[in-house]
Amino acid sequence: MDRQGLVQLDTGACLFSPEEAAVCPDGAITYSRDYRMAASTRDGLVNPTGEVELARALDERARRLFRRSLRLRSVVAGSCNGCEAELVALGNVVFDLARFGIQFVASPRHADGIVVTGAVNTNMRLALEKTYEAVPPPKLVIAVGACAISGGPFAGSPEVSDGVGDVLPVDLWVPGCPPHPLTTLDGLLRLLGVIERGEQRVNR
Ligand code: SF4
Repeated sequence: MDRQGLVQLDTGACLFSPEEAAVCPDGAITYSRDYRMAASTRDGLVNPTGEVELARALDERARRLFRRSLRLRSVVAGSCNGCEAELVALGNVVFDLARFGIQFVASPRHADGIVVTGAVNTNMRLALEKTYEAVPPPKLVIAVGACAISGGPFAGSPEVSDGVGDVLPVDLWVPGCPPHPLTTLDGLLRLLGVIERGEQRVNR
């Protein structure tokens, strides 16, 4: 509840389970097929209607530098592997992330940014910070999944940081548990300004 007593729905904390919808006695929470949920800010995921403020494109200078392509290093910071499974799916023939010039790379030194999954547990925090430091600037941080955004089901545990936002500045927040590949793809293409400019569509 916010200060005015209005209900706020945080899709960054939502696990998108039937139980979460059932908990509302008025049946006000329902799920749709809309996959567009990635936001540029953490606050953009919190809204009374459950709608998100969709991700904005990077500024012109950043887009010129990245040339509308991205090399990303994945950092698994205490994930259950559900989010990684969906990230891997981005590379299959259905989603084919590489056709948009976006690829996962092995070394942070070859990357434009990192994709973080998991609630950032104590054991992975230093590794996450070191990986981030190894990426040459300018660099992006993309938080994928409820755990990376808010701690997800582990929020409040003394063993986690309740998401990557407590550790690093985040440029893209992709909700879901795990996020659908289309949600991640949509957020990345919005970040690069590809969808906003109408030059490319997510669906073939
Ligand atoms: S958000 Fe869900 S699927 Fe992703 S790591 Fe956390 S529990 Fe697993």
